[in-house]
Amino acid sequence: MSEEEAVDAFVALRYAETEGEPFCPHCQCSAVYQSNRNVKNRKTGKVVKKLRIFKCASCLRQFSPTSQTIFASRKLEYRDILLAIALWTNGAKGTSALEMTRHLGVQYKTAFVLFHKLREAMGAQVHAERLEGEIEMDGAYFGGYVKPSTRKAGRRDRRKLSNQSGKRKCITVMRERNGRTRPFVCSELEGANLAPQIIKPGSILYADEAKSYDRLHALFDIKRIDHSKSYAEGDISTNHAESFHSRVRRAEQGVYHHISDKTQAYGDEMAWRENNRRLSNGEQFLALASAGLHHPVSRQWKGYWQRRKEAA
Ligand SMILES: [Zn+2]
Repeated sequence: MSEEEAVDAFVALRYAETEGEPFCPHCQCSAVYQSNRNVKNRKTGKVVKKLRIFKCASCLRQFSPTSQTIFASRKLEYRDILLAIALWTNGAKGTSALEMTRHLGVQYKTAFVLFHKLREAMGAQVHAERLEGEIEMDGAYFGGYVKPSTRKAGRRDRRKLSNQSGKRKCITVMRERNGRTRPFVCSELEGANLAPQIIKPGSILYADEAKSYDRLHALFDIKRIDHSKSYAEGDISTNHAESFHSRVRRAEQGVYHHISDKTQAYGDEMAWRENNRRLSNGEQFLALASAGLHHPVSRQWKGYWQRRKEAA
């Protein structure tokens, strides 16, 4: 794919609502001029970057296909962004930023920030709607790996709370059976308190025997499964919720390794993957690229490393 074709693809996705006709992100006006500007190397005069710039006929402001989207102020070529999204959606457990640096030939920091921007867009989609129907709830712990001491004398019982790392985080998930998944980094008790905001009244809940869920009996029709006795009694189980946890577990152990600083972001990524797992590769690619192009500029991730440099 040439850079030119990649820009066309971006334009088609960004302005899908108007069938690829660009409109001004500042005043929504659809009368726009197009101009292509080439960025040349000052010494050699060689064209290093082709830009597609639009100018609004009514407010006269300039914009590009990535203006006011998650990809704003991009430094990567359009082609590389599309390639990164395509490769990233292909990994069921995700792909590490380090691996992507080798695929694209870019810096680790570049891939790291691009992925986090995409995770932010994924999270916005995942958390856009309240859940309804049959919903399973469960919590599990991730992150904060404690390395066992080499010498036997130094080893601690890692099952004990006092010997665990403070970085260990609980993800409480609410998952519709055959539907949407919403993860939250909070204890099961906090999750139970959150449930009325997340789940529509009239839904049927499934949870295990943990005391935290007792309070939900007053609000929902809730069915409990006692895990000390069995994992399923008829249709009562939390197996869908646990299958989400196992996806996060596999991503943590197999790909990302250290997720505790940004557990919510990684949880959202895995929820998005879980929700879209039945789509083909091509559909997942389009869904993610489009999510990024319809998500506003990231306050957290735009200029992340520049800010980090100033702070240091
Ligand atoms: Zn305008």
